[in-house]
Amino acid sequence: MRKHLLPILFLVVAGLIWWASISSTVRNPYTDNNNPVVVVSGYVPYTLTKQLAGDTVNLIMLLPPGAEPHAFEPTPGVLVSLKHANAFIYVSNELEPWAQELVQAADEKENVLELSSTLPIAQDPHIWMNLQNTKILAGEIKKMLIKINPGQQLFYTENLKKFNEEIDALDQEFKNSLAACNSREVVHVGHLAFKNLTDAYGLTLTALSGTSHEGEHSAKKLAELVEQIKGKHLSAIFTEEMLSSRLAKTVSQETGTQVLPLYPIEHISKKDFNANVTYAQLMRRNLESLVRGLKCQAS
Ligand SMILES: [Zn+2]
Repeated sequence: MRKHLLPILFLVVAGLIWWASISSTVRNPYTDNNNPVVVVSGYVPYTLTKQLAGDTVNLIMLLPPGAEPHAFEPTPGVLVSLKHANAFIYVSNELEPWAQELVQAADEKENVLELSSTLPIAQDPHIWMNLQNTKILAGEIKKMLIKINPGQQLFYTENLKKFNEEIDALDQEFKNSLAACNSREVVHVGHLAFKNLTDAYGLTLTALSGTSHEGEHSAKKLAELVEQIKGKHLSAIFTEEMLSSRLAKTVSQETGTQVLPLYPIEHISKKDFNANVTYAQLMRRNLESLVRGLKCQAS
């Protein structure tokens, strides 16, 4: 009997060392502190919640940096993490069809916030591309934060006020910068994600495919787009980060146009995620691309 004890003891000690090592390196959002846990679908609710709540909540984003939201498949672990959350915030069932399953799994139904439900139904579900819409979304997030963490009401209210001021100033900047441009046509080699943005400033949008990232990049459609661009004598086309830049390069070469990035914000690169890039910073990058691509003159 005794000779079997040593290997067993060895296994127990090895197990304890392993457990200690993962416990110290993996941050567990449920035990780190007593802050409420907020689970969000993707980067839009993530960055807005982060800006309003700072470190007063433990924030978990389901869509990993680098992934896109329209066709994401949540793992069973996601359902478990939701059971322990104080709130679940997502954009819409239309944008994130996978969220419906999670809503059903959430215990406290009243702590589920579908952001789009506060706005009229839009043709393009990327509703945060309109700055004024995003102020409304941030207002809803603030209400939810106060509900789950009432002690921080003043902090959240003050942060929302600052956020709204920042967005209003940016909105004015968009209006001024896009007032006088050589072209008002945005041709986007990607999915229909920027209609709310172009509509807000009197620009027109042509996108290669529909409102989701799936398919539709047929050779016929691409050839039509190339002809359209040639006919319009545009100097730049726009593409989105993470989408096939090869496709945009092909169009650019065939039409002699420059390719500039537009950021849909619904997905985020690892680099920008780690740098905690904010909604306003990403929208400012969009403005810079539009000003360059449409050749707008400073007013
Ligand atoms: Zn999208």
